[in-house]
Amino acid sequence: MDTMSNQPRPGKGVCKIASKPKETVCEKATDPDLAFAQIRQEIQEEYAEPHEKPWIIGFSGGKDSTLLAHLVIEQLICLPRSERTRPVHVIANDTLVESPMVMGHVKLALEEIRIAARAFELPVIVNTTTPKIDQTFWVNLIGRGYPSPNSNFRWCTDRMKIRPTSNYIRQRIKDSGEVILLLGVRRSESSARAITAARYDNGSRLNRHNNLPGCLVFRPILELSTDAVWEYLAEHNPPWGGSHDRLIQLYRHAGGGECPVVTSTIDAPSCGTTSSRFGCWTCTVVKKDKSLAGFVDSGFNEFMPLLEFRDWLVQIRNEPVRRLARRRNGQVTITKNGVFVPGPFNMATRQEILDRLLSLQEKLGMMLIRQSEIEKIRDIWVEDVIVSAERNAEMQHVSVAGRL
Ligand code: SF4
Repeated sequence: MDTMSNQPRPGKGVCKIASKPKETVCEKATDPDLAFAQIRQEIQEEYAEPHEKPWIIGFSGGKDSTLLAHLVIEQLICLPRSERTRPVHVIANDTLVESPMVMGHVKLALEEIRIAARAFELPVIVNTTTPKIDQTFWVNLIGRGYPSPNSNFRWCTDRMKIRPTSNYIRQRIKDSGEVILLLGVRRSESSARAITAARYDNGSRLNRHNNLPGCLVFRPILELSTDAVWEYLAEHNPPWGGSHDRLIQLYRHAGGGECPVVTSTIDAPSCGTTSSRFGCWTCTVVKKDKSLAGFVDSGFNEFMPLLEFRDWLVQIRNEPVRRLARRRNGQVTITKNGVFVPGPFNMATRQEILDRLLSLQEKLGMMLIRQSEIEKIRDIWVEDVIVSAERNAEMQHVSVAGRL
């Protein structure tokens, strides 16, 4: 497919930047046209600020971050080349267990943005972050035996989403002193999002990130309604070519909300909740997976085995015979109420999960676990066997010494 063939050219239909007095910019516009004019003006003014702080757009592939990338890239195209001075990073995060349909869409969208950036000579850098190999879902679940994550022990979001994105941002801060992170958050997305958004309300356009020193947060579409977002996406083709139809179809199939780009735990109200349909296919934090279920309900029956595997991970989580008595640090945990908390999955269960996953991978013909993850898992198993043998020897020594 020629992704450039139907792209707008600079100066054609995309450069209608309304000129509004600056003091009215922060008022919430109710007319969608006026709201978009204000947003464009804010983006334009902020980009024209006389400093070199790079922009980083958190791109999840969902409607809000797509709209944000659309508006920013449109603005860049409008600028004369001499004024496109500040780099704009578009970064997505791949947990390596993303819903396959969603990740497929994100990869295509990133590639389209990359091609358009090259064609229009935009200072846009497209990147995908991933968790470090020793912190992926499978390495923690199968390698270390962490029980499938749930709302009490949600070990995944920080390792698989927050750290990779934060590390990327930190690196850019190291290079440039400060960065501006553009987030497609909207107050009206949900009540949880409204509470999160309120934490950054300081009356200014830019806010300091709560956890990342040197990172300023810019939320250009904060006040847009969901209807306004959909209407805009339906009526305007993206500046990188094609249309937003693939995204709109994706939502139709998935049936709802999304998992946003996450840079702190308070940014992640919908990650692993019932409102999230765009999360990891392995997500056991939600009671019932809605992302894959939505695709299966829409006729994508090939995802049924993934759903069944995920349900099996939920089912085995609390089976006592599958868990070790001690935690990985060797301690036995009993809460102050006297409740025994079992340790990680035992070795037989970890092996069983790996075997089942590999046969599922073969059956579906799609990559579910990487070879590098399998190697890391085996390294951890070897270490665990050694540590366990040393621990047993030590306990035996203590017990023999006690009898002497
Ligand atoms: S979608 Fe679920 S499994 Fe993935 S990071 Fe969020 S809570 Fe964890």
